[in-house]
Amino acid sequence: MGALHASFYPCPAAASGLCGRRPLHFPDDTMNDSTPALPGTTHLECTATGATFDSEVLWGLSPAGKPLFARYDLDAVRESFTPGAVAARAPTLWRYEEVLPVRDRACQVSLGEGFTPLLESSRLAGRVGVRRLWIKDEGQNPTGSFKDRGLCMAVSRALELGARELAIPSAGNAAGSAAAYGAAAGLPVHVVVPTDTPAPILAEIRALGADLDLLDGLISDCGKVVRQRCDEDGWWDLSTLKEPYRVEGKKTMGYELFEQLGGRLPDAIVYPTGGGTGLIGMWKAFAEMEALGWIGAERPRMFTVQATGCAPMVRAWEQGWDDAGVWEDAATFAAGLRVPGAVGDFLILRALRESGGGAVAVTDHAMAEWVGTMGAATGIFGAPEGGATAAAVPRLLKMGLIRKSDEVVLFNTGSGLKYVGMEPVG
Ligand SMILES: *Cc1c(COP(=O)(O)O)cnc(C)c1O
Repeated sequence: MGALHASFYPCPAAASGLCGRRPLHFPDDTMNDSTPALPGTTHLECTATGATFDSEVLWGLSPAGKPLFARYDLDAVRESFTPGAVAARAPTLWRYEEVLPVRDRACQVSLGEGFTPLLESSRLAGRVGVRRLWIKDEGQNPTGSFKDRGLCMAVSRALELGARELAIPSAGNAAGSAAAYGAAAGLPVHVVVPTDTPAPILAEIRALGADLDLLDGLISDCGKVVRQRCDEDGWWDLSTLKEPYRVEGKKTMGYELFEQLGGRLPDAIVYPTGGGTGLIGMWKAFAEMEALGWIGAERPRMFTVQATGCAPMVRAWEQGWDDAGVWEDAATFAAGLRVPGAVGDFLILRALRESGGGAVAVTDHAMAEWVGTMGAATGIFGAPEGGATAAAVPRLLKMGLIRKSDEVVLFNTGSGLKYVGMEPVG
């Protein structure tokens, strides 16, 4: 077919107020006949207790204070949602719409996010010491980072379920994405970021029309301010894993890897982990793909890379802890990795262990050096977080967690252009 499913800026539904005025509960028969409803979610499920909740109202964390996962009737779409059917669709993450939460195509806000190139580099494979190596170049998303995937989904779903104003605390890239998708959806966005957020990101947030609040503190401090305003003023909180849909956007990276490798998954995935949405999302995608009959029980080994100045997951993995706790005095110029505590820590650690993977920390200087090595070997100007994944591979080889014979995928989660002027810390 090849018809473009996503509605492009300005979202017609937002312009007409259609989605925004829809009651939080709506029966399927109110759907417009010309835009047949997608299956959407059956319910939400608490990742800690397994308790289930109505997915047609806006939910933040579960009553247990843990992330909620969206669930689908995968048996119902098994026949139609196949790799062959998806192959002909438009190159955005909406190509996986049967396993995404938005029901009304008019609410699929899109700036062309997802389906980023998976680039093989034999030169970089040689430099890090493995047989085959690919870079998933997430810097090619609309605002230059993979945060677009999560915020595209969270904003689209918030629009569909009637949110009026959106808010987000961020160490940087997520704020740019929220500002972009809020503008595309026609919803106001309030952004709270630390004062030392990279200047290009601040310029971007302002240019995209978001309400910007600078705070002298960490992302966790920004989160508290957002939480309070959400309670007082009815803003909708888009914090990492504190609503169920950013992880749904991020999981599409797992489906893409399978498609772009020609119907299989790699031996190892090396992922720069902050809040962990991408890693948790891909792990969820693999379970869905198995239930759909796309893959069997095999899984890639999942590896977390963090900065030595903020490595709560690495510490917890090394110590054998189930939860990561909070890292004191977090310091790294890789803004996406400056996350001292993550609400989804137990899900990250579970995926690392179940996959036979692991976690390793690298210094800011190593990240900066490998941004250069990766750039010169591939032509990709990566974010420090992307450099961190390349820096990690020789370490993981030495630790015996990755083998020379492995096929490895690195995630360059953002463009180096968003970090110009930032210097390594420590
Ligand atoms: C947010 C971010 C990360 C961390 O992503 P999570 O999925 O939250 O772990 C990594 N790299 C970049 C560039 C980011 O913006």
